Parts: sequence; structure tokens; C-alpha cells
Amino acid sequence: MNTFGPPRLQLARGAGAHVWDVDGNEYVDFFAGIAVNALGHAHPALVEAVTTQLSTLGHVSNFFATEPQVGLAERLLSLLGWTDGRVFFSNSGAEANEAALKLTRRTGRTRLIAAEGSFHGRTMGALALTSKAAYREPFEPLPGDVTFVPYDDVAALEAAVDDTVAAIVLEPIQGEAGVVVPDAGYLAAAQRIAHEHGAMLWLDEVQTGIGRTGAWFAHQLVDGVRPDIVTLAKGLGGGIPIGATVAHGAAASLLKPGNHGTTFGGNPVACAAALAVLDVIERDDLLSAAVERGAHLTRALAAEQEVIAVEGRGLMLGVQLADETAAAVVARAQARGFLLNNTGPARLRFVPPLTITEADIAVLADAWADIVTDPEELKP
Ligand SMILES: *Cc1c(COP(=O)(O)O)cnc(C)c1O
Repeated sequence: MNTFGPPRLQLARGAGAHVWDVDGNEYVDFFAGIAVNALGHAHPALVEAVTTQLSTLGHVSNFFATEPQVGLAERLLSLLGWTDGRVFFSNSGAEANEAALKLTRRTGRTRLIAAEGSFHGRTMGALALTSKAAYREPFEPLPGDVTFVPYDDVAALEAAVDDTVAAIVLEPIQGEAGVVVPDAGYLAAAQRIAHEHGAMLWLDEVQTGIGRTGAWFAHQLVDGVRPDIVTLAKGLGGGIPIGATVAHGAAASLLKPGNHGTTFGGNPVACAAALAVLDVIERDDLLSAAVERGAHLTRALAAEQEVIAVEGRGLMLGVQLADETAAAVVARAQARGFLLNNTGPARLRFVPPLTITEADIAVLADAWADIVTDPEELKP
């Protein structure tokens, strides 16, 4: 169905941070399938894990337990530092958020606070938490009782939250909005306000989680933040579809047998893929790599006058351009062999694989001046 418009390219294969189209043209991939391919393309550890698991046990449903599923749940809880947690596995970010939304309903409260600029997915419940009017309006009425407040505004949260609120739902760094980083104290304030009113803090780390920002989870970049619920997807499976809703404390026991379900969620192949992603991030210290490559990429991107600001953490960067040229920049980049993404008319987003090399960034740095500045404009 025509939901995405015409595709830019037809891609045939990939390796590391590189992809090739059907005509054999090569591109350095700074988009990574929307911040998904944490290990790049065709990473041997991921290929091996998926192949081995699929040839051992591919799918059994949640009527049965499997070792990869239990192992992945334990691993996520340990990375979060939660000894009292539980995990629900699904197949996407929207589904991870749907499960969390259903979980909040079991508090007996229905009101939710979300942020302007938020993106939480396209299914009806996740869409109800997504602020963009163009996404929402064609599908109203959406599941109700959501109040939107300006992002990174503590006073607005103070004013909106009362004892009828089940949860505050926030992205620790807004992704689809163009990589918007809140003030250092914002998440801790949101947590304090939520807890003062007996509400939960639910952080959507679908895009920010699994090493993208240089920490396992973006909320770990700031002190004292311990959300009640975290939702994950994108980077978790390194390209194999998987979502996870992780909760601890009282939130972990709200969903009871029969309250929710899934046929595919938590299947052993997806869980084995996710375990391989986590193993490689740990083994190759890709958290440090994200910080170092991110700093290198930031310096390279900021070097041009047309770039007003580079914001973000690790390898999740938003680039503000002086003019509304982002779409033209993406097109020029593609013609020169780079896959980029624009989130707005003057905003670019860089979310390359965590495995991207210094050399790949250096190649972009060399071409960057010509990409951001229209050669036509330079003509006298
Ligand atoms: C991409 C995204 C989602 C939706 O994930 P899907 O897998 O596309 O359903 C939800 N929340 C955030 C923060 C995202 O970036």
C-alpha cells in the first residue's frame, strides 16, 4: 500500500556500514534502517546467532519457554540494574508501547501525560501518545485521556500531573522530532513529579536504547533516574524485529495472566539475535565507540557554516541547518554515496551503525562541504 511514497533506492546488499543498490552503487549508511542496525549490515556474530538458533529451534509460541528468551530477559534486567523486574517481548516499538499502555490501565487510572514532539509509534494506542497532528488526525478518535505538555518543561509537568495520572511517558531524547536533548535535570524532575502523585515514569527508549547514545540506556546518562517502565525495540535486534516492555517494582506485576499476549513476541530467533547484539556491544566496547565516533562525527558536521548546531549524544545526532535545505542535502548526499535522513525542512538526523569506522566518518567529512552547500549557489 502506498504509505511510504516512492522509495529512494532499491538496495541489494550490505556489509558493515556500507550498502549497495541494485545497480552496484555503494553508499555509507548513516541512517541504519532508522537507528536499527546497531552492528551494521551482515555482522558475522548476528548472522551466526540467527542461523544457529533457526536451525535449532525457530518458533514455539509463548505456551513454552526457551533459553534465548529467558536469557535475554535476564540480560536486559541486569543492564538496567533491576532485580525486581519483568519483561514482555513483542515485535516492534509500537507493540512495546501498546503493552506498556495496557499495563498503565491496570493501575485503575486512565490519564497519561505525553510530550509535544513525541513519537511512540503508529498503532492506535501508540498513536494516541504521539503528538504530530498529521499522524493523528486521520485516525481520530484515538484511545483517550492523553494530555500533551511541552517537552523539557518541568513547570508544565508540575501543572499537568495530579493524582488521576497513571504515567508520564517520555523519550529521554526525542528521536523523530530531530534529536532533541532535554535539560540535564528534566528526567529526574519528571520522575519526582510522577512519584509524588503515585504515577509511573515510563521512558520510551525504542530509539535511544541499546547503546545508541553511548550508554546502554539514555536515562543512564543522567544521575538518579530510575524509570518504572522502559520500552525497547529498534537497535535491540540489530535488524531482526523485536520489542520489549520492561518494568520493575509494582509496575512489573500489573499485567496478569490473560491480560495481554502475542504469537511471535519473544521467539527464540529474535531473542538470540538480541543476545548477539548485546554480546558484541559489550565485547567490542561499542558504548565507548559511540561516544568517540559521535564526537568525531559532530566535529566533522559542525565544520561547515551552513550547520548551525549539532545536538545529541553518542551516535544519535541532530543537525540544524541555516536554511530549509535538508531534503536537497539528503539528495546530494545520496548522489555522492551517503545515506542520510532529514526529520524536518532544516533538520538532519545521523544514526549510523555503532560499528561505523573512523575511516567512514572521514570520507563523509571530506565530502561534507560539497553536500551541505549547493554547488549551483556558488556559481557567480
Ligand atoms: C521508532 C519508534 C517507535 C515505533 O517503533 P516501530 O518499531 O516503528 O513500531 C516508538 N518510539 C520511538 C521513540 C521510536 O523512535
